[in-house]
Amino acid sequence: MTAQTEKAVHRCECDICQVGTDLETVRHHERMNLFLSRLNEPQRRWYVGLLSQKAGSPSDRQLSLITGLDEVTIRRGRRELEAELADVPSDRQRREGGGRPSAEKKTQS
Ligand SMILES: [Zn+2]
Repeated sequence: MTAQTEKAVHRCECDICQVGTDLETVRHHERMNLFLSRLNEPQRRWYVGLLSQKAGSPSDRQLSLITGLDEVTIRRGRRELEAELADVPSDRQRREGGGRPSAEKKTQS
């Protein structure tokens, strides 16, 4: 177990996982964190913000323990979703790809 900074998956710190008896929940939390580790930062908070809105879902406090995100961050994700992500244009996400121009003209057959 070397602590590598690259893509460390957060380990759930909720009570259920500490006790470890509810295997289904433990596994679910593991998967959540695995999933979250593949998302970028805004995606993470939106996902958790979304989860927090579901009826019967864990409190922000719990979600924070589960996912390692701040309660503040979770609240922010929820607020952004409620605002329909108006302040966070999806264009931003593009910066990863190389300098490939977006297919201007489809090849005509
Ligand atoms: Zn857990």
